[in-house]
Amino acid sequence: MAGDGHLGEFELIRRYFTRSDGRPAAGVTVAGIGDDAAVLRIPAGCDLVAAVDTIVEGRHFPRGSEPRSIGHRALAVNLSDIAAMGATPAWATLALTLPAADPDWLEGFSAGLFELARRHGVDLVGGDTTAGPLTVSVQVLGVVPSGEALRRGGTRAGDLIAVTGTLGDAGAGLEIALSPRRPEDRQALALAQRFLYPTPRVEFGRAARRIARAAMDVSDGMAGDLAKFAAAGGLAAHVDVERLPLSAALLGFAPLERALDHALAGGDDYELLVAVGPAEAARLAAAAEESATPLTVIGEFRAGRGVHWTRGGHPFTPARGGFDHFAGPSTQFTD
Ligand code: ADP
Ligand code: MG
Repeated sequence: MAGDGHLGEFELIRRYFTRSDGRPAAGVTVAGIGDDAAVLRIPAGCDLVAAVDTIVEGRHFPRGSEPRSIGHRALAVNLSDIAAMGATPAWATLALTLPAADPDWLEGFSAGLFELARRHGVDLVGGDTTAGPLTVSVQVLGVVPSGEALRRGGTRAGDLIAVTGTLGDAGAGLEIALSPRRPEDRQALALAQRFLYPTPRVEFGRAARRIARAAMDVSDGMAGDLAKFAAAGGLAAHVDVERLPLSAALLGFAPLERALDHALAGGDDYELLVAVGPAEAARLAAAAEESATPLTVIGEFRAGRGVHWTRGGHPFTPARGGFDHFAGPSTQFTD
């Protein structure tokens, strides 16, 4: 490190990941980065909610993706899980495997991570740094009043099914990011941003906790995730694809069939799927408005099993299911 430009592990952690401004939104960091382990105090009367997600270069994001996006996404995908539980995120740990200690890359990556962390009151309290193929594992810890976490089960027949935001943008955005002759128009750029910088629905998730009956986040494509939601409650989901919220950008970029395919099977949306009793639907809509989160009712749960898709009232079968790492081809994309 003596002026030769080489960045050692200790200096790397100090320079890019040690921040003094990381007050958690809930709880107290008793000991953060710099000790052998972090010591975290959760507020009295709360349960601890933990989520971890790994993103791998060439599998979850294209090789050569902008580092700021990688930092953002690594945290965002976990915040989305915490949001789906109706919890308040408070701390994160980061296990970073890097091919090389490139200062420009680290600058961008940590900027993307900390911008989002600051927005949600998340304190980075520890991690691990190793050399190897680019792999980013983030764990987020959050808190929720004891016994009040929003679970996937607990739905009842007659509950309405609603989803935040719009679906399929990230799927189209990934297609755009991967295409050799990348479209440069405003719509294409907006869709690519939705893949590169997903918006975890943290405020809405927390507000929904006391109103909705169940929730989960949509990360692997609506078709597959809705099937999981239905199974968790032992009910049948009835949804008409004409009710799925599609953005103007997606409809401008892709023909309707393609747009629907992205919405049903695209993945990487990080929107929240919620079930709400019909009597509470207006309150949930008000909570969505308060957190400036678009919310659309797309169908309902009834007695039965599985997902019953219709299109304009007629039975409909999605072309593809959700994404599964261990089904089908061994990689999602290769470069
Ligand atoms: P140990 O060898 O005891 O695991 P390390 O030298 O790996 O300790 O880490 C030193 C401190 O830096 C620890 O507090 C650890 O949590 C933190 N740390 C290591 N890597 C990262 C990282 N990528 N991001 C945040 N904190 C990190
Ligand atoms: Mg270590």
